[in-house]
Amino acid sequence: MEVKQFQAESKRLLDLMIHSIYTHKEIFLRELISNASDAIDKLHYRSLTEENVKVDSAAFEIRIDLDKEARTLTISDNGCGMTKEELESNLGVIAKSGSLAFKQENEAKEDIDIIGQFGVGFYSAFMVSDKVTVISRPYGSDTAYKWESEGADGYTIEECQKDSYGTTIILHILENREEEDYDEYLDSYRIQGIVKKYSDYIRYPIKMMVEKSRPKEGSEGEYETYTEEVTVNSMVPIWRKTKAEVTEDDYNQFYKEKFFDFTDPARVIRSSTEGTATYTALLFIPARTPFDYYTKEYEKGLQLYANGVLIMEKCADLLPDYFSFVKGLVDSQDLSLNISREMLQHDRQLKIIASRLEKKIKSELLSMQQNDREKYDAFFKNFGLQLKFGVYNDYGTHKELLKDLLEFYSSAEKKLVTLKEYVERMKEDQKFIYYACGDTVEKIDRLPQTELVKDKGYEILYLTENVDEFALKVLHEFDGKEFKSVSAGDLGFEETEEEKKEDEAQEKESRELFTFMGEALAGKVKAVRASKRLKSHPVCLSSDGELSLEMEKVLNAMPT
Ligand code: ADP
Ligand code: MG
Repeated sequence: MEVKQFQAESKRLLDLMIHSIYTHKEIFLRELISNASDAIDKLHYRSLTEENVKVDSAAFEIRIDLDKEARTLTISDNGCGMTKEELESNLGVIAKSGSLAFKQENEAKEDIDIIGQFGVGFYSAFMVSDKVTVISRPYGSDTAYKWESEGADGYTIEECQKDSYGTTIILHILENREEEDYDEYLDSYRIQGIVKKYSDYIRYPIKMMVEKSRPKEGSEGEYETYTEEVTVNSMVPIWRKTKAEVTEDDYNQFYKEKFFDFTDPARVIRSSTEGTATYTALLFIPARTPFDYYTKEYEKGLQLYANGVLIMEKCADLLPDYFSFVKGLVDSQDLSLNISREMLQHDRQLKIIASRLEKKIKSELLSMQQNDREKYDAFFKNFGLQLKFGVYNDYGTHKELLKDLLEFYSSAEKKLVTLKEYVERMKEDQKFIYYACGDTVEKIDRLPQTELVKDKGYEILYLTENVDEFALKVLHEFDGKEFKSVSAGDLGFEETEEEKKEDEAQEKESRELFTFMGEALAGKVKAVRASKRLKSHPVCLSSDGELSLEMEKVLNAMPT
């Protein structure tokens, strides 16, 4: 028998679980069942795609056994099982999605309540037990191993006997403590209730031996007890249920559990079609930006199921980059299980599904913009940057799709507005959509260049992100109105003949001064001219080429 230490980070998470004062400890069961289901998914998939893996998919099951005397709760599955190495690396080290995300979020928040919302995984078993034993035998191997731990001190691992492949997890349930009842986790009704509450949609049967009573034969009024095996869950995945069967809360719970978030999604999108591509999609728009969203680490993609069998955890081809924030899954009968990643990229069905989803996501976002503006503005603050990158990238091939979704801060409204709203408010003599760039709204507000445009009663869009002006350049116009920077040489105001003459006279008058200034600033400015846009400021910088000063700044800052 080998005695090993946990990796430092695992130990911390474990400590957190052991000393948890969390009141919803029951979620440990959800975690262990979800692991069992994942393990069966893996073997199921292999059985459908590998010649030499022969298992009967009708036999897949998860079992729960309770032993009040021994104080044990046992969860067994006939999934893929784990080798000795896998036992050590999977249960001794935190490197997994949920746990890691949890850890990082938790450091920032110090909020113990998020345990309940989060996929904290296997270690949650320690919230209710003082010893956890895992016995596992991988499919195709004769050797089984036993992993055992009493908490943060470490674990032991040794070879053992197990009749068939799969994993058995034995929880040694804690004794009742002051105010803390653990006996309930040995109670059959309570456990059935927990399974129904959190794991009803699991697609494999969760079986339990349940005590029942019936009238005793031959004797009036007497009852006898007997035990019977029951399947506790309904096994219908949430996306296969009809709308009437699922509540808003069911979707929210499902989302949080499956996609490791602790806030309800901003929007749930359901979509199913039949015909050229038959599929059901269940998509979610998160209400917050994932902590790694704007980093290279973030991986976009939807879960892909072929007729109920998970074939890919993150199918990137289903989502365009500008909608990479969308989470969810697609289940289609038209996909072959044997499909490889490379083939999938060229799959016609998948392309059709992806393009339908893209339209659906857009229309849902638009409807959110029209019907729940506050929510949409919050969404845009989270993910608007990604949409603007979407307009700018790929030579603007997506600008038509995305232009209606954009929002910018408005000088007139003092809040985010859409381009459509701007154009609707334009003054009669106004030819352009004006914008100004700067680091912050406050700084832009003080720009001398904005004064004259505001004086005319024109609205100005304030662009505070580097990508903003690039995106507008790609869009070029909206509703036939071109964009114009307030720092452009010519602001495009209508001018009378008289005004023009006056300008020329002024220019002549000051020519000497300007030539002198131009020479003094040689290499720093291209020309010095009289400006009509200034009111209270003596001087301002402007550009008249394609590039604005701000764009030049961004381009200069880019690594070459
Ligand atoms: P996660 O499920 O997010 O990966 P967990 O802490 O729940 O994290 O589980 C850690 C890992 O342990 C899983 O990814 C899986 O590889 C392995 N594991 C846990 N339970 C089982 C099981 N019943 N059968 C096979 N592997 C399992
Ligand atoms: Mg898990």
